Amino acid sequence: MQVSEQISDQPNFDQNFDQILSTVTFDSKNPPNPELIDACVHCGFCLSTCPSYRVIGKETDSPRGRIYLMDGINEGDIPLSPAIAGHFDSCLGCLACVTTCPSGVQYDQLIEATRAQVERNHLRSLPEKLLRQFIFSTFPYPNRLRVLLAPLLVYQKLGLQKLLRSTGWLEQFLPKQIKAMESVLPTLTTQAFQDTLPELIAAKGERRYRVGMLLGCVQRVFLPEVNNATVRVLTANGCEVVVPKLQGCCGALSHHQGQEAQTLELAKQTIDAFADLNLDAVVINASGCGHTLKEYGHILKDDPHYAEKAKLFSAKVKDVQEFLDKVGLTAKMSPLQEQPLTIAYQDACHMLHGQKISLEPRRLLRQIPNVQLRESVDASLCCGSAGIYNILQPEVGHELGEQKVTNLTDTGAQLIASANVGCITQIRKHLQLQGHKTLLMHPMEILDYSIRGQKLE
Ligand code: SF4
Ligand code: SF4
Repeated sequence: MQVSEQISDQPNFDQNFDQILSTVTFDSKNPPNPELIDACVHCGFCLSTCPSYRVIGKETDSPRGRIYLMDGINEGDIPLSPAIAGHFDSCLGCLACVTTCPSGVQYDQLIEATRAQVERNHLRSLPEKLLRQFIFSTFPYPNRLRVLLAPLLVYQKLGLQKLLRSTGWLEQFLPKQIKAMESVLPTLTTQAFQDTLPELIAAKGERRYRVGMLLGCVQRVFLPEVNNATVRVLTANGCEVVVPKLQGCCGALSHHQGQEAQTLELAKQTIDAFADLNLDAVVINASGCGHTLKEYGHILKDDPHYAEKAKLFSAKVKDVQEFLDKVGLTAKMSPLQEQPLTIAYQDACHMLHGQKISLEPRRLLRQIPNVQLRESVDASLCCGSAGIYNILQPEVGHELGEQKVTNLTDTGAQLIASANVGCITQIRKHLQLQGHKTLLMHPMEILDYSIRGQKLE
């Protein structure tokens, strides 16, 4: 029985509330796998690479600590209390621990199962519940998001955002999560309000490949110029690009937060949208989405109608940088400025730890004449964006964003390259907060500039 149902059955809510919370536990539907838990030998190697442990400094907010907690709940030794759920919520899902662990502990699968348990069984406070419901009913649906953004466009155009930020009013009066949401709002343009890409875009010159492109839900609204640049880079390199009109959100946002039903629905819709198009690959330019698309085979493994389709679909998914690196750039490229250009490439977690892609984007950028790459300290540490983590856990997200931008700007690079919409908005915010004028672009925008012979301003 769900906790909410238990509560409605209680005659005296206050009296029994604590008692109920102390009995909440995982249900029988896919609890974190004890065999995967047992693979952890408690060596602690993962602690130093875990961003939540780095900031919070408690064992319970580290991979090892969370694995202990999962085990304790499985064994019935501890309840899924609000405090324990908080330790699972504090995980960024960055997967750095998966990369680090010498014993091959599949923490990604453990936290995935745990998050779904938390969402089903943990009773969140009303404000927390409302915030999550708001996010999951708007962010994955571009047209709903657009309705919401219309007044925000006016807010920005009339200069109200600037005024309220400079007077400190937002800081003083908004709840911290709403404040965090406002703080990462990019500068909106009218382009954000409609999808302008046609369904079929021809390759320039001889067609080498036919690829489908996922537009992303937040990506197409917040960074439509990145999608436009991606199409130009692909077509300039001999790809015909198919942009199915019926595509929506891929489900990454819901998947990373344990929203199982929504994830399954969105994954199936995405598979259907790209079905029967005779594609060589399905490409994506956002790391979080790419990682989830590649996981469809696992996410839909129990669905009798979609299990096989999902496996075939995932096999075709490629991050656009991975794809271009593999097939090779054929377009002529020009320098972005006369002098050598230094670029710091920022590794998004779901690209580096989730998809193990790190060399490919660097190889592509190095093909631009006059480019020199610089590496930052702690390059593999999360920037604190982590999907909606910087909204749900603003303090930890803020500290990580601050550290990331300090490390990136310390390289002295003139340009930062980042291949994920969440990281871009987070890094942009902290560049502004720290008063840096360093340019920030998606690698596809950088390649697009080079192919079109456009110079940096
Ligand atoms: S998850 Fe891996 S690295 Fe971390 S404590 Fe367990 S075995 Fe060690
Ligand atoms: S996923 Fe990231 S934040 Fe979560 S435990 Fe692993 S390293 Fe820490």
